[in-house]
Amino acid sequence: MPVVELAAHGGPEVLVPATRLVPVPAADQLLVRVGACGVCGHDALARRGLLAAPVGSVLGHEIAGRVEAAGADVTGWVGRRVALVQRIPCGACAECAAGTTARCRQGPGFYGEDLPGGYAEFVLASPLNAVPLPDEVDDVTGALLSCAVGTGLKALHTAGVRAGDVVVVTGAGGGVGVHTVQVAHHLGAVVVAVTGDAAKVQALREAGADEVAVRPDGRALRAIAARLDRPRGVDVVVETTGAPTFATALRSLRPGGRLVLVGNTVPGELPLDPGLVIVRELAVLGSAHATRADLVEVVELVRRGVVRPLAARVWPLAEAAAAHAALDARSLVGRAVLRP
Ligand SMILES: [Zn+2]
Ligand SMILES: [Zn+2]
Repeated sequence: MPVVELAAHGGPEVLVPATRLVPVPAADQLLVRVGACGVCGHDALARRGLLAAPVGSVLGHEIAGRVEAAGADVTGWVGRRVALVQRIPCGACAECAAGTTARCRQGPGFYGEDLPGGYAEFVLASPLNAVPLPDEVDDVTGALLSCAVGTGLKALHTAGVRAGDVVVVTGAGGGVGVHTVQVAHHLGAVVVAVTGDAAKVQALREAGADEVAVRPDGRALRAIAARLDRPRGVDVVVETTGAPTFATALRSLRPGGRLVLVGNTVPGELPLDPGLVIVRELAVLGSAHATRADLVEVVELVRRGVVRPLAARVWPLAEAAAAHAALDARSLVGRAVLRP
């Protein structure tokens, strides 16, 4: 089958077409024909060798397609269209039993790192990470649901966001950010979108942002919070960029505010002012990827038209390098998508 693999770590040009054998599903697994695969900021870091994907990996963890075959223990899935969660959990460990499947490390694992990903014609999957797609949600949209939409939904749940909360979303023009704005708006939050790109202001307003701030400093964010009846700061920050905005975002919180880290575009350590966290009694939380239950919720929100995933542009699989070049240039609003 055609795939795109990492020939080395480096720029977009290291993504090269190759051929692999079609994988064979185990007794409890599904074989999914990939209909579309999203291109994530995570993939760009993996391509550069900054994450766990070794040379030779097939990247891609944002997958939708059709179940073509199933193992002997699985019934009722062949022929169904599905969206996949990024990780296949084991279904048996303590984390899986608690529903915290993003923390499971006993299953087949994370696409593109632990098992071959969606820059391919086929991938393996499981009823533990597959969610049926209704007819009105196409594959390109389906590919965006778990990572680009589900990551923000899970972060907002982690922060306990309620109607009326003032929520800052950093990196709001990015693939995760723009959908976090939509979901937060749906939850009834007052949304402040922070972006580095003035050209994305209109798209963010259309996504549901009440305020859009372009590269705000701490003073500008506090002024916006005050205008929104939060003179002591905002209730929640969903931080999708990490290092570039973290310090300013943390300072924008009211006493007792919560910051959820979901993205980090510049791997490495961050300076943290402990006094600020102590005196204001702030909570700094991490939130990884969606669970299958989160993905079920996202599919329903999209089916109802409450959330409209933004695919910026679709490339043929063999042109994955061009999609990565566009991602590196930060010129897209919404997700780049590959189609085999
Ligand atoms: Zn992703
Ligand atoms: Zn598990």
